[in-house]
Amino acid sequence: MVTYKSPREIELLKVAGNVVYQTHQYIKPFIKEGITTKEIDRLCEEFIRSKGCTPSFKGCEGFPNAVCTSVNDCVVHGVPGDYKLKNGDIITIDIGACYKGYHGDSGWTYAVGDISEEDKLLLKYTEEALYEGIKAAKVGNRVGDIGYAIEQYALAHDMDIVEEFVGHGVGTDVHEDPQVPHYGDKGTGMLLKEGMVIAIEPMLSMHSAELYILDDGLTAFTEDGSNVAQYEHTIAITKDGPIILTGDDSNG
Ligand code: MG
Ligand code: MG
Repeated sequence: MVTYKSPREIELLKVAGNVVYQTHQYIKPFIKEGITTKEIDRLCEEFIRSKGCTPSFKGCEGFPNAVCTSVNDCVVHGVPGDYKLKNGDIITIDIGACYKGYHGDSGWTYAVGDISEEDKLLLKYTEEALYEGIKAAKVGNRVGDIGYAIEQYALAHDMDIVEEFVGHGVGTDVHEDPQVPHYGDKGTGMLLKEGMVIAIEPMLSMHSAELYILDDGLTAFTEDGSNVAQYEHTIAITKDGPIILTGDDSNG
């Protein structure tokens, strides 16, 4: 069931989203060769709690940690552990925070030291694909218009889209209806209305985005070992256009 948020609820979602944004800013300087993904998780969890929030993903659908740390060909739901980041890695840190029962959700891919020219493009294009999707998230458009915008951008850059994992509504649950695929046809799917809050989170590869899921039922990797980047914002759909809730304050 899709819920439409009141202005009061959007204010709470903004607080949660802003803590997610601040957590990303906090962790960024730590993303260097030698740090373990477990240490990144611990630092993020401490920071989220210091802001009066709880980590949304801890215990969510069986996920054991506060944040997801997905390195290189790990597509999503990387479980933090003893892996030490190496120069040339890329890592997606997916962060969720809950404030007074309302969530924010944003994943971002970071370069560890010097990355390949191909990965630089992968990061740049995937981030741009997210903003193409956000631009399409307007009152009167449909869910399929968001996916269409992302898919057209990805195709224009000869990239492959992960289809198994999709964006979603965000509210008092971190994953709510509707599902928001990162591919689609113009003018199809649910109508976008004022008060909808959704996470858009394209995952793209420069090669094949075919994937397999580990026995834990959570963590996904690409079949051919190619790297995947992901950028995600939680946004509110308003009559004045989309507002990014997990971005810089000055952005709304
Ligand atoms: Mg996320
Ligand atoms: Mg999400």
